[in-house]
Amino acid sequence: MDKQTQVIIVGAGPTGLSMAAQLLRYNIDFIIIEKNEKTTHLSKAVVVQARTLEIFQELGIADKAVKEGQITTAMNLFYKGKQKAFLNLSGLGEGLSRFPYALSLEQSKTEKLLVDFLSANEKLIQWKSEFTHFETNKNGVTVYYKNSIGQEQKIEAQYLVGCDGASSLIRHQMGLSFEGDTVAKIFYVADVKLKSEIINKNELFMFMIKKGFVLFFPMEGKGHYRIVGILSEAKEVNEQIKFEEIENTIKEQILVPIDFEELQWFSQYKVHSRKANSFENGKCYITGDAAHIHTPAGGQGMNTGIQDAYNLAWKIAYAINGNVNTNVLKTYNSERSENAKHLLQTTDRMFDIMAGTNVFWNFIRLNFFPTIIGLVTKSITVKKRIFPLISQTGISYANSYLTIDSFIGKVKAGVRMPYFIFSDGTQILEYLTEPTFKILFFGNDDKNNSNQLNNIKLKIVAKSFKEIPASLFGHDKNFYILLRPDNHISYIGKDLKICREFLNKISCN
Ligand SMILES: Cc1cc2nc3c(=O)[nH]c(=O)nc-3n(C[C@H](O)[C@H](O)[C@H](O)COP(=O)(O)OP(=O)(O)OC[C@H]3O[C@@H](n4cnc5c(N)ncnc54)[C@H](O)[C@@H]3O)c2cc1C
Repeated sequence: MDKQTQVIIVGAGPTGLSMAAQLLRYNIDFIIIEKNEKTTHLSKAVVVQARTLEIFQELGIADKAVKEGQITTAMNLFYKGKQKAFLNLSGLGEGLSRFPYALSLEQSKTEKLLVDFLSANEKLIQWKSEFTHFETNKNGVTVYYKNSIGQEQKIEAQYLVGCDGASSLIRHQMGLSFEGDTVAKIFYVADVKLKSEIINKNELFMFMIKKGFVLFFPMEGKGHYRIVGILSEAKEVNEQIKFEEIENTIKEQILVPIDFEELQWFSQYKVHSRKANSFENGKCYITGDAAHIHTPAGGQGMNTGIQDAYNLAWKIAYAINGNVNTNVLKTYNSERSENAKHLLQTTDRMFDIMAGTNVFWNFIRLNFFPTIIGLVTKSITVKKRIFPLISQTGISYANSYLTIDSFIGKVKAGVRMPYFIFSDGTQILEYLTEPTFKILFFGNDDKNNSNQLNNIKLKIVAKSFKEIPASLFGHDKNFYILLRPDNHISYIGKDLKICREFLNKISCN
């Protein structure tokens, strides 16, 4: 008999697993299929950003992630064997997130955390199931796949979410393009155990060389580093090249004493910078690498996929339950496509600077970059701007259909609820874990009572707070914040009527 479900997810990488974990929070029935027999054993994406950890906190897996990972405490910049700058990263996001740092955690471990979360909730992945094609019909989609013994199977679902990576078949079959560029250089990645008098801390080491860089990224365990660099002469990936052949080149490039003791993984790859022209078509959606791929600058790729899933899951759930109008689900494409576009611009620019691909930026990098980094180290204001950008906590959907142009103090609608700590030591996001719309009231006169909130067609959770951090909201009081289920602000202001009208506008009934 054909299987039926509400959502079919194709691909159990970090994005697909996150999609599944999020749908679980909304009690949506789903099937997740994956062609491989288990999650990756490779370290691949090693940076887990603060916003991802906040999302993990809602799933109850953030503390485990932090325990298994390694916090990067500083960045060192070297040129011609000499230290040119030191950037203390430990306080970078202080006061901006419960996780004021970038965590290094192998992708294999991140995926395992998500798989364990699903198993603990009695949801299993259908391994060894290879998606082949889909058809759309008036009820949704029919997905065809080959099972472990090559037999064709099908699943009927209301929605299809393609989390099938950069070569996404689903993207092709949806008729979408994947516009952008591929960098004409070959990069290598090596996970090693090393011994060095200089590279021996939980710190990032970036060695600038004439046409590129060698990056040493700290990983969990003594002497454990991820090395990323450019294979100088190569034009194509050549599997014959072994790490042993480039060991000496690395030593000559970085000019600091180092011994490689163990190689755990070596791979070469091409760097792409591409984005699909749309992330949706009818009842089908693409997320993660299927929708956009980036240069490795800033460790954004995997984190962006996890946030795509976080953004899409609640909208699909509300659509399935018949709670919101069709415009709401359309905002997945507008919000996340715009985010991916900005991200590609920033990662491309960062990458141009790091890799020396552009003559102008290479000149700037070799001559001024150390001074700039030095200034950044000293400027608290610059640090406070960098963290939201890199950690993805600063993403705003200001131009969305789901955002009403409004602000109180420094807080504008569109951003995720800003992080702050109350005087009793609790932090605001702890109160906001329910996956639903919320109306928060900040002030003394508790107007957030049931009478005021009558006649709202959508289910909401109301909360009141007497303590109001002046650093964020100035001296304003008696105002409301309307939060979406993903804790982005739809409205911030004094008029509860606006919240009510907005919620009724987006609801179905
Ligand atoms: C060397 C390297 C370093 C990186 N470093 C970072 C970093 O530091 N930070 C960061 O954020 N990102 C990094 N990335 C990028 C990151 O690995 C990807 O962005 C991330 O894996 C994307 O997740 P995804 O789930 O969207 O896609 P994938 O991880 O590619 O998962 C797609 C899944 O779909 C499955 N699939 C494909 N086709 C089918 C089919 N027909 N049927 C069934 N299943 C199918 C695949 O088997 C796979 O499991 C790095 C990548 C590499 C290669």
